[in-house]
Amino acid sequence: MKEIEKDWREEAAERFKEKQSKGRFKLGEGENTIRILPRVGSKKSQTPFFEYLVHREVGPNKRFVRCGKTLHGDGDCWLCDVKVPDLQNSGNPNKQKLAASLQAKEQFVVQVAAIDTDSGKMRGPFLWTVPTGGARSLSARLLQVLKSTKRDYIDKENGYNLTIERTGTGKMDTIYGQIVADEESSEVPEKILNQSKPFSISVVSGRSLAAFPVIHRITGDARYGRFAGQLEQFLRTQVEDRFWFTGAHVDLWPKDFEADSVWHAVEYWLTKYDETKDRECLKHAEADAWFAFLMWCPKQLPWVKNPMQTCHTEQENYLQYSNYCYNNRKYYCLDRLAQLTGQPLFRELCARVIQCGFWAQPTAGEWIGGMNEVKSDP
Ligand SMILES: [Zn+2]
Repeated sequence: MKEIEKDWREEAAERFKEKQSKGRFKLGEGENTIRILPRVGSKKSQTPFFEYLVHREVGPNKRFVRCGKTLHGDGDCWLCDVKVPDLQNSGNPNKQKLAASLQAKEQFVVQVAAIDTDSGKMRGPFLWTVPTGGARSLSARLLQVLKSTKRDYIDKENGYNLTIERTGTGKMDTIYGQIVADEESSEVPEKILNQSKPFSISVVSGRSLAAFPVIHRITGDARYGRFAGQLEQFLRTQVEDRFWFTGAHVDLWPKDFEADSVWHAVEYWLTKYDETKDRECLKHAEADAWFAFLMWCPKQLPWVKNPMQTCHTEQENYLQYSNYCYNNRKYYCLDRLAQLTGQPLFRELCARVIQCGFWAQPTAGEWIGGMNEVKSDP
């Protein structure tokens, strides 16, 4: 095979691996060589790992939610403060068992590059959720290595790769071997460092931004209003000021740009405008909507078979056209903008989006809660 052909095939194989992993790293069976990456983008912290608490197996669908408390137990969390104690004090052994599985558990994450054992090439960055537990857990042993004052393992130019052997894959039979560092230091390619992300960005976090003011209004509970205020502050300073609209998928590591995130923000400002009649809110809504158009596909592209006129491009890692109408809120926002600004383009786009895609969710029956999106070729 010609050299050049081999090159793109290798690249394709690598890209395929990256896509499969969705930006996450898992220790495979056998030897794994990795490099812990330095923390980027945070002025506050150089710590290369990030620890927090989560509740697993929450509710009938066994969901995973972040705990409201810090590792040291500060802060509020309804599950920790109310639900778990209630179950524990119920006197019912089944409920007590449930309480045990609901307890907050530690999460320990680092960003890593994975070293391909055949080619020696570094790939990444990936987010690695390291198994946690007591003093002999993998996260504890990793800390033991990283805390060394003699060697800087994570230095981008003179750090050291680490090799960990894994045997077994099951919950009970998995064993992790010693963490062995390379004798020689090595350099992390600039390309990987440039793509690594700060840990704590959860920018426009799903429906929270639009939902909390509504929850506040309905319940009258001031805590929800305060939380909404914090989200707005973050939106102003960290999102709109930086055009950094990510994180509409609450189940994914929030690293990719998403047009849906922009529409969450538009909806938030429109609702606030309705309540306060503050012109600044409308300005924000309009500005965010114009920004969202930058992600819209302008027309049906000739080399794509399926209709894509109202799709938007998203994600930094690979180009993807999505035809989300953002649970029908996208045309709700466009309709409101048309009414409030008198700008006819908003009205036309609203009609266009409705022609192209519609979202529905069954409220009863076997498929209750299912998401249905219908796409049409206008
Ligand atoms: Zn909790």
